Amino acid sequence: MLTIQNLYKKFGSLVAVNNLSLAVAPGETVVIMGPSGCGKSTTIRTINRLIEPDSGSIVFDGRDITQLREDELRKVRKRIGYVFQHFNLINRLSAIENVMLGLVMGGQAKEEAYDKALAAMTKVGMEQLQDHKPEQLSGGQQQRVGIARALAFEPELMLWDEPTASLDPMLVREVLVVMEELAKYRAATMLVVTHEIAFALHVADRIVLMEKGTVVESGIPSQVFVNPASHVGRQYKELIE
Ligand code: ADP
Ligand code: MG
Repeated sequence: MLTIQNLYKKFGSLVAVNNLSLAVAPGETVVIMGPSGCGKSTTIRTINRLIEPDSGSIVFDGRDITQLREDELRKVRKRIGYVFQHFNLINRLSAIENVMLGLVMGGQAKEEAYDKALAAMTKVGMEQLQDHKPEQLSGGQQQRVGIARALAFEPELMLWDEPTASLDPMLVREVLVVMEELAKYRAATMLVVTHEIAFALHVADRIVLMEKGTVVESGIPSQVFVNPASHVGRQYKELIE
């Protein structure tokens, strides 16, 4: 479904992503872990070209995203959902209006957008609170609206960049539960950057460990965390024990 090969990205003289290769199979949930600054966000963001890579290829559904024209890229972006650390909901809109907004901007009729938004809100257990404004919701609820906003497009691939990192510890679980459900029902292929080790251990089909801009280890959780081959892997193993 997604094959990244020999990806490079520099910021000035700093090499953020260094010859990274990574493949994700359809329906798979892959968790990317690694120390802060190792290039996780940069990698994730090149996939929908929020960041333009310097070189390398990113093949999604048979086409190299790095080679797409602007109009083709727009179409591909609709098939790739994106959930960030900061949910950036629009405060004057209700929760469901936030979910509808992208659909309506994309040219869908309001009724159709509402139906899709409601279905997405139901998937994240937020349908009862659809008319609340973001400020009336907890951080965890706001992030669930952020997830619904991505789900409303029925994306084939979902990219997650530390979706629980800005939440109070008490609110992390409700978001992880939603993510786990999506992974379990293979609602989309998922590429997840997170520091939540328990989530990685129990939900990931495969864990990819990064260090200094590249993949240093990849495998099923029991292998990576129990018998790690990399320095980063051994550090995670110590954390678990
Ligand atoms: P991670 O998500 O793993 O914490 P990032 O991909 O955000 O790491 O960053 C990788 C490296 O690139 C870091 O050293 C970071 O400081 C640097 N970096 C990221 N974005 C930019 C940018 N827009 N300009 C300059 N340096 C950046
Ligand atoms: Mg990051």
